[in-house]
Amino acid sequence: MKRNDFILIAIILAIAAAGLIYLNFAKKSGDMVVVKVDGAVYKELPLNKDTTLEIQVTGGGTNFLVIKDGHAIIEDASCPDKICVHHRQIEKDGESIICLPNKVVVEIEGSKQNEVDAVAD
Ligand SMILES: [Zn+2]
Repeated sequence: MKRNDFILIAIILAIAAAGLIYLNFAKKSGDMVVVKVDGAVYKELPLNKDTTLEIQVTGGGTNFLVIKDGHAIIEDASCPDKICVHHRQIEKDGESIICLPNKVVVEIEGSKQNEVDAVAD
């Protein structure tokens, strides 16, 4: 391998690393908590406001959503597996908690203005 090739690879790696760091910074906290039941939007709540919501699912199921300190968790649920309850808290754009038995999806959505233009450069 020629010396110039090595330098070129080093530069490419440096650019890739810088890009990754930049993307991590760009991935800011989300703004809205979107609750969906069976694919339909059930409720939208701001992430920056502490609140609780009892999600009533058709068939009698419930998921108890808690929004606190800028993150969201399912604190309790009627489902048998409790995977949603044991899921770690979500707070960043695109993160979600899914309860398969109740068909409940809790998702973080960022503000509508995205930074696609800046990233594309
Ligand atoms: Zn569940």
